[in-house]
Amino acid sequence: MIEMHNEVVEAVVEQYKGADEDIAADCLVYLSSLKVLPLAYTATTALESMGRCPTCGCKLESYTHRVYHSEVDEPPYYESVTEVYCPYCDIRGGDYVG
Ligand SMILES: [Zn+2]
Repeated sequence: MIEMHNEVVEAVVEQYKGADEDIAADCLVYLSSLKVLPLAYTATTALESMGRCPTCGCKLESYTHRVYHSEVDEPPYYESVTEVYCPYCDIRGGDYVG
């Protein structure tokens, strides 16, 4: 059997890209939940490349905060660090691992 997971995921993304991207994300979440490893992996990768949560398909959000480096001798002492999080899983789900 030929592995067609790339084609399947591409077809889903292509079909629903643009205004219907939410539907594509839902489809990819469904595919990634199947016990078909290459397909699940490809679907998860596609969700990540769309900036979507691989668990629920929500659009990921990011926030930037500054980290102070006391070990540096010259400015800048602060480093901007951007963290990506899912507004649904990471906050309402309660097990935020930042
Ligand atoms: Zn999520």
